[in-house]
Amino acid sequence: MSDAAARLADLRNAIARAAKAASRDPEGVQLIAVSKGRSAEAIEALIEAGQRDFGENRVQEVAAKWPELRRRHPDVRLHMIGSLQSNKAEEAAGLFDVIHSLDRASLLQAMVKAEWHGPTYVQVNIGDEAQKGGIAIAELPTFLDKVRDAGINLAGLMAIPPSEVEASPYFALLAKLARRHDVTGLSMGMSSDFTSAVMLGATTVRVGSALFEETG
Ligand SMILES: *Cc1c(COP(=O)(O)O)cnc(C)c1O
Repeated sequence: MSDAAARLADLRNAIARAAKAASRDPEGVQLIAVSKGRSAEAIEALIEAGQRDFGENRVQEVAAKWPELRRRHPDVRLHMIGSLQSNKAEEAAGLFDVIHSLDRASLLQAMVKAEWHGPTYVQVNIGDEAQKGGIAIAELPTFLDKVRDAGINLAGLMAIPPSEVEASPYFALLAKLARRHDVTGLSMGMSSDFTSAVMLGATTVRVGSALFEETG
């Protein structure tokens, strides 16, 4: 087994254990391999090991790195997980399959104009941090109405909890908001905290370093 295949197998096992601990079906958790900053070779090793969903956070990087990988592996799916400028919405619509970072009205307008119909997550500023993207919790109900009215394919909510503190209360809060607003998908959990995210209901985890880096 290649190193990439071994790391992928370990990660899938860890996700399955966390799901079972919470009496959830492991099949209900999608794994996105976050490949920002990683080489085409490193990505290809994971594709060969069976991984199909990849996350990136910069339109330019994807435009440069992915066309050739896509040609060779037409069944991969690309997820936009970074903040998206409205003037890049049209380009993003042509490059990505799923967007996890719809976080403001101007971007919503730009996505509608770009005739974007892919699954879309609304990003919530779950820790109320000035420097982070995401809709403020207080504005979420109104924003979700706008998203639904615009005919966007609303897949769920996404959040990045504050760093350096225990993430689980934020995961629990995002899950509560999703239930309250009748949204099914929960994009939450990264290398350091995906286990608790899965136990608290994540349907999609976004894992980068644990998949791409040697651990020992
Ligand atoms: C980089 C990134 C991840 C992955 O982080 P790791 O700690 O490397 O697993 C997940 N989500 C978002 C939004 C990111 O930018």
